[in-house]
Amino acid sequence: MGVEGVYARTALYVDLVERLEQYITRQRDPQAEVLRFPPVMSRTQLEKSGYLKSFPNLLGCVCALHGSEAAIRSAVERYDNGGDWTSSLTSSDLVLSPAACYPVYPIAAARGALPPGGLKFDIEADVFRHEPSLSLDRLQSFRMREFVRIGAPDEIVQFREQWMARAPRMAADLGLPHTMDVANDPFFGRVGKVMAVSQRQQALKFELLIPYYQGAAPTACMSFNYHREHFGQVWGIRDEQGEPAHTSCVAFGIDRLAVALFANHGLDLKKWPAATRSALAL
Ligand code: ATP
Ligand code: ZN
Ligand code: MG
Repeated sequence: MGVEGVYARTALYVDLVERLEQYITRQRDPQAEVLRFPPVMSRTQLEKSGYLKSFPNLLGCVCALHGSEAAIRSAVERYDNGGDWTSSLTSSDLVLSPAACYPVYPIAAARGALPPGGLKFDIEADVFRHEPSLSLDRLQSFRMREFVRIGAPDEIVQFREQWMARAPRMAADLGLPHTMDVANDPFFGRVGKVMAVSQRQQALKFELLIPYYQGAAPTACMSFNYHREHFGQVWGIRDEQGEPAHTSCVAFGIDRLAVALFANHGLDLKKWPAATRSALAL
């Protein structure tokens, strides 16, 4: 669409994405509460989540012309005269959501103490990350589906283990070659390098990786994240013992999975492997 990493979606692609989403839906916990988020979220909430400390370089903030009619008109006139209208922009109270799950923790916190057994969510959002690239697997605007679990530490560890066991079976269902590996988030700057090492040492993040073609470096298409008590502490979510709740999310990179399917199986869905066709109800 004239910018790196931003793509229009064709009917073929959208149909496949819908089938993939339905396949993921069939795997979810029947008790999971479904929430769909818009592509924007509260700037204050994201700041409070600690995002700026970890990934300030990836964040997109919504700006607008907030001035008087005269000030707004002069910004437009500047543009008409070949100048830069954007110097009049100031930030609004919105950011572009950089991951689907950030808004769910304050929503859970607002409900008070966790119910017995904690909370389970099925969430999704179109997210933004400022990482322009020509690679088909690194978009600036992409869809992220997540299963989120909030509860006591043992419940969270079990949730993540269960999904790390199930995800390779899902990739196999879809006929996709895959590996599971420990990973780290791309924490910003020099201090970030230390945070990344610590995240790996504690095995807080795993990824399911899929090569787009034979011999290609594999692409992370799902991630399995254990945040420990981070969000519980930030938002004051308490488990049944009165301790800060632990949280985990399993993220499905919908666009990465869709591109992985087309790259591995081709553009003619009729020729896809029988198991893949059956998983996607093709
Ligand atoms: P990577 O290391 O490849 O940048 P990540 O660690 O930033 O991935 P997460 O933050 O775990 O990814 O995001 C969850 C999922 O969203 C990833 O597993 C991936 O499938 C997808 N994803 C992340 N960044 C992008 C992107 N730029 N374009 C498309 N999908 C992405
Ligand atoms: Zn998440
Ligand atoms: Mg990344």
